Amino acid sequence: MPDTSQMPANTEFLALTDQCVMCGLCLPHCPTYRLEKHEAESPRGRIAMARLVASGQLAPSASTIAHLDHCLGCLACEVVCPSGVRYEQILVHSRALLEPSRPASLRRWRWLHDPARLRFLARIGRPLQAFRWAPWLGRLLPGTSRLGRILREMPRPPENLPAPKPRQASMPPRGSLTLFAGCLGHVLDRDTLDAARSLLAALGYRVIEPAGSPCCGALALHAGDAEDAARQTHHTRGVLETSPADAVLVIASGCLRSLRDHTMQGSTLRVEDVLAFLAADDQFASLGFRPLPRRVAVMVPCSQIANGAGSAPIKSLLSRIPQLEVQLMPEQPRCCGAAGNYFIENPNQADRLRGEKLDQLDALKADLVLTSNIGCRIFLDNGLRHQGRNIPVLHPLTLLARQLEP
Ligand code: SF4
Ligand code: SF4
Repeated sequence: MPDTSQMPANTEFLALTDQCVMCGLCLPHCPTYRLEKHEAESPRGRIAMARLVASGQLAPSASTIAHLDHCLGCLACEVVCPSGVRYEQILVHSRALLEPSRPASLRRWRWLHDPARLRFLARIGRPLQAFRWAPWLGRLLPGTSRLGRILREMPRPPENLPAPKPRQASMPPRGSLTLFAGCLGHVLDRDTLDAARSLLAALGYRVIEPAGSPCCGALALHAGDAEDAARQTHHTRGVLETSPADAVLVIASGCLRSLRDHTMQGSTLRVEDVLAFLAADDQFASLGFRPLPRRVAVMVPCSQIANGAGSAPIKSLLSRIPQLEVQLMPEQPRCCGAAGNYFIENPNQADRLRGEKLDQLDALKADLVLTSNIGCRIFLDNGLRHQGRNIPVLHPLTLLARQLEP
């Protein structure tokens, strides 16, 4: 299995940073640079800082740590870089390098990278949110307090809608697929899981769901927490490789790249984006969908672009719903600010990015918002709720399953 604890040696790391030719073409695509217009908040600036720290020419300081921590990990820079700079590797390594220099107040919150603790938090947050206590309690705490932020941004309880009825497959059995919902999917994204089961069953697939909600390891990996990432990915790989499935379909776009390129690297088991898989299925055209005369705004998450799936599968699948008007939200800013637990750690930047997305939504006058990553979905949903706007935010699969003809 890949060993994520094996960070590149220093010379190898310096070679990675040397690939940056400082052209600056990534700058207009970087959400934090767009916000601050400051070189240290750009990919080029961060790479230069990481190189200086790794070569011993710059002592890690509070501001170096802050500039590197303000990075969302959206990888918009990596996608557009003409030199093929592997920015994700640079980010992961530089955060690990800076870890011993972090103040204890920052290190204390690393427990937020643990999937079991996050699940616990999501579960206890449910009743608080259902009785509308969570935002109220959150407002009692200072705006900068992480606990206050967590309470204010608790996901609202899912709509109380019946799960789509399990369908009889209208075609012969076509194999088994593992649905990967990530560490929080069974708590926070149950409607998407129900929808995925329903659509896949209609296409004749047997759906397998791994026990224990295995994690893709992205949170720990992007925090430079190599030990935790290695522990999580080792467990997850073991679970997935013993499952009798032909492929793993990932529900949340934020999990795909980490699962495919780190956790399952070198495995013969295919790991695919669920939307791309459905869009490429030649039997999908045989399914019927009820018309929906509504306008939907689609926010394509930065992770969906960074993992290579892009907007094409979403557009292709939604085009099957008659009368649906689909509007893609502007690409910039590339990230809505959720970015794993970024919205907790960097509330100011996260809220400014979300604010821009909410203004775009306002201009689109959409009846419904669709996005394929659970973190973006919750963060946008909360932003709309804080503004008193009651616009549902769903995964595209949920809308497709609701419109699927019996
Ligand atoms: S990361 Fe790539 S695009 Fe950005 S400055 Fe370096 S070489 Fe140019
Ligand atoms: S990952 Fe995103 S936020 Fe970080 S430097 Fe690249 S573009 Fe900017």
